[in-house]
Amino acid sequence: MRVNCPNCESKAIITSRENQSAGVADLYCTCTNTKECGATFVTTIAFKHYLNPPSSDTARLAASLIRQLPKNKQLELLNI
Ligand SMILES: [Zn+2]
Repeated sequence: MRVNCPNCESKAIITSRENQSAGVADLYCTCTNTKECGATFVTTIAFKHYLNPPSSDTARLAASLIRQLPKNKQLELLNI
């Protein structure tokens, strides 16, 4: 992950991370442009949404949907 300084846009180094809650963390950062800036700052990262769900979730969802079908339809799907 790359973080840029909000002041000068130079690359910043993440010096520590503090988890705030599930999927949300504060990153403590230091600007690498030490001659002209040298700012230290905190930025927050957060999980937003999946583009593809984890495969375990997909399998669980598929199994749940299949169980809703009558037995003959379940067998039809399993023979594909
Ligand atoms: Zn900077």
